[in-house]
Amino acid sequence: MRRGRLALLCVLLVCLAAALSAAEEALPGTVPWCETQPFGIRHGPREGRRVAITMDDCNNIQRVRELFELSRQYDIPVTFFPTGSMLKDQDAELWRAIAASDCEIGSHTMHHRRLTDLPYDAICRDIRGSQERLDEILGYHYGMVSLRPPYGSFMDKQGRVMPVLKQACLDCGYRHVVLWDLSDTEFSRARSQMWSGRILLFHAYKADVSCLRQLIPWLLQRGYEPVTVRELLELPEIDTTPMP
Ligand SMILES: [Zn+2]
Repeated sequence: MRRGRLALLCVLLVCLAAALSAAEEALPGTVPWCETQPFGIRHGPREGRRVAITMDDCNNIQRVRELFELSRQYDIPVTFFPTGSMLKDQDAELWRAIAASDCEIGSHTMHHRRLTDLPYDAICRDIRGSQERLDEILGYHYGMVSLRPPYGSFMDKQGRVMPVLKQACLDCGYRHVVLWDLSDTEFSRARSQMWSGRILLFHAYKADVSCLRQLIPWLLQRGYEPVTVRELLELPEIDTTPMP
């Protein structure tokens, strides 16, 4: 009898342990990374070997084209944050190809103004303007989910998130702003500071693309997995619907 009870107790303990470990495993998957982060996100998870390569402004279309070609050559996605005013009609074909690929396009606002200097209405106009311009050039709605504020500005001089700016972002559909935690266009310095979760900031300059020509194969050799900002931060899916 006592032996029977002992066996039952053992079975129960094993079941309990299994249930607890299952619950532990389930937890990380249930909350997207972005929801565990503050309003301004600077990096992704530090485990998993994932990094995100980003290019801001996109004011030189030739550099944009070169980075997109690099991303095709190595079969990796990158994230472009073009300022809305830099989206020119004559480049529509390239932007459509980028949008149709596994790369991501995020918002860098319409006019590249420092959002912390603007009132609520102007911030909303600048954010919504870039979405409207992208949709116009693509010919369909591509609902951007990543917003990078110009100059990385979203806090006041005391280092606090500006409530007006945060509210404007929320009302435009962005629960976070995306910053970066590595900005170095010198290959050996960039690689010496590399680790998982990095968001890498580049611009549409020759030196930046040259650095990436060395950095991308190095990342792949070292087992890093370049992903989009959306994937790294587990932001919502991009909604693409035809325009009416
Ligand atoms: Zn910028």
